[in-house]
Parts: sequence; structure tokens; C-alpha cells
Amino acid sequence: MAIQLHRADGLKGGFSENGEERLALECPYCGVYSNMTPQSVPNADRLIESKPKHVGLVYQCDACRAPVFLRFAVKEIAADHVELYRNFVELERPKERFAYSYLPKHTEVLFREALACYSGNNFNAFASMCRRSAASAYTALGEGGKLRAFEEVMIAQDIAGIDDDSFAPIKTILFESGDEESLPLLNRVQAGILLEVLKDMFYQCFVRRGKLTRALKVRRFFVQEGRGDLADSA
Ligand SMILES: [Zn+2]
Repeated sequence: MAIQLHRADGLKGGFSENGEERLALECPYCGVYSNMTPQSVPNADRLIESKPKHVGLVYQCDACRAPVFLRFAVKEIAADHVELYRNFVELERPKERFAYSYLPKHTEVLFREALACYSGNNFNAFASMCRRSAASAYTALGEGGKLRAFEEVMIAQDIAGIDDDSFAPIKTILFESGDEESLPLLNRVQAGILLEVLKDMFYQCFVRRGKLTRALKVRRFFVQEGRGDLADSA
């Protein structure tokens, strides 16, 4: 359904408050996939007069009430309304999350920056930072660490059923050593695969071990406490 800004009735059609189709997005503030309600809509008279190529609309997240800024390209300017293209740019993207505290310090610093690049749609900066994050992880894992990480990534490829051609650039970025200049260029889809694969590799190599060690420590603590109780009651 077309999105239109009318002189008389403001926002009409898709993504409007009473439109048949509500806008739902992952909120960049609360992270909830939530309905968005129009909060601030440009004045159609002004747009018809000034004929901009893009317009900004502010929606309110129904979950946390935060303002969410979207930019739409103008499709057509008529005498009484402005029509917008349906695809929009989210000016603030949700932050990618990870259990950073389980990573080695150096890897954590690099991987935080990698995910910031990804959230900012800078996919090749993201790829470069993934290589640095991975290299620092191999160092932290010690001897045989890179091989172990490679095996984890191969398992991930198999589980996810990703074909070798799509997977080749991801392997090059994570495992081939050489100049940064030789890194393949990534599009959004490939960057998304790289993101999930590297998160999974870090999970298998660090987070899983950290969580398990912590959980076992807690169990052991309670068992010891329990024994103490039994001893007391005996
Ligand atoms: Zn929200």
C-alpha cells in the first residue's frame, strides 16, 4: 500500500496509524520487535513547495516509547499529496549484542568495534575487524587454537547448510593470513553470514566453556554447602 502525506489529512496508507499495515521493527533502544506508531510527520504543504528528494518521519516504539527515525525517498509530488517509496533507511540500527565478558580482553575490544561497524552498515570495515578479532582469539586460544576454531566454523557451515561458494569469502576473512588489501568485498548478506559464523565460533571457543565452568562452580558450591548441612544434622 502506498505511503502518502496529504495536505489535508497528513499520513495515509501503509505504515500510518490507521493504515491496514502497521510498521513493526526491532527497536534500536529496547531491542524488542515492536509496532511503531507515527509520532512526527512532515507537513505536506511544505514538502510540495520545497520538493525534497527524501523526508524523515519519526515513529514511536510501542514497547518503550522511544523515538525511531526513518528516512524515506520521495516517489512523486502531486498537487495535494506526496507519495513515498516503501523502503526506508533506519537512521539508528539496533546494536548487535554478544556476551562480551566471556571473551579475552583484547578480542573483546576488537569484536565490539566489529559489531559497531556492522550496526553502522559498514560491512567491509566489519570484515577487517572480524579478521583482527579472530586473529586475537587464535592467539588467546594458544597452540592448536586456530585449527580448533576452523573445525568449529566447518561444523557451523554444515549445520547451516551454506554452500562452499557463499562460504569461501567468510573462510578467507577468518583464516587466511595476508594483507588486509586482499580481503574480499562483502555485501549485506555475506556480512550477515560472517557475523553469525564468528559469533558461533566465539561462543563455542569461549562463551560455552566460560558458562559451563561458572555453572559447575556454582553446583559444586551448593553440593559442599549441602554436605555441611547433612554433617550438622547427623
Ligand atoms: Zn523500543
